[in-house]
Amino acid sequence: MSDHSPPLLLIDLDHTLVERDGASDAWAPAFCAAHGLPAEAAAAVFDLFVADRSPAGFARIAAAHGLPHSGEALWEEHVAHEAARTHLIPGVPGALAALREAGWAIAVVTNGSTDIQRAKLARTGLLPAVDAVCVSEEAGARKPAPEIFHAAAARLGRTLTPDAWMVGNNPATDLRGAHAVGLRSIWITPTPPPPLPPSHPAPTYTAPDTPAAAALLLATS
Ligand SMILES: [Mg+2]
Repeated sequence: MSDHSPPLLLIDLDHTLVERDGASDAWAPAFCAAHGLPAEAAAAVFDLFVADRSPAGFARIAAAHGLPHSGEALWEEHVAHEAARTHLIPGVPGALAALREAGWAIAVVTNGSTDIQRAKLARTGLLPAVDAVCVSEEAGARKPAPEIFHAAAARLGRTLTPDAWMVGNNPATDLRGAHAVGLRSIWITPTPPPPLPPSHPAPTYTAPDTPAAAALLLATS
């Protein structure tokens, strides 16, 4: 059957397909300003958020700071805010389109909140550009755990075979995870790449960005 299966690409989301404007904690001061809280409250709001990145966490923020909103409402606001500060890395839509035109099946494999990661994909127009999405929260496993890579392939009705590829920017999650399930890999990293820790497997290739990685994949297929 694998003789007739299209080539399979698993690909990371953050810093591989999309980037975020601002630091990870940049939303907390904006949140305080939007809800009439003093700027000094931002650190405490962020600490509560880090402890529980969910509607329940936002319910605790609301209770601690006297906000009249439900945790669900504040969570939805946060998801929208995170999506709004997400943008495509240049060349990514064209790279994904070229791969699919060449017959590749593409599944996004990403660690994070299902709501947020899917909102980022929707906002950037990437949902129709890929064949499946597998987010750690809904998969019940985070990269580098093998389960999430198997789950991503299963969403395409596939099993992982050694001719499948993983592309991502994070050696600890993307490369180690790919290696553990026997995939070939491309590490998205600046040129020249920084040294990898000895415990990390070497990628099959490195590339400065996803369009360059797609060109390598097209050359192999
Ligand atoms: Mg990443």
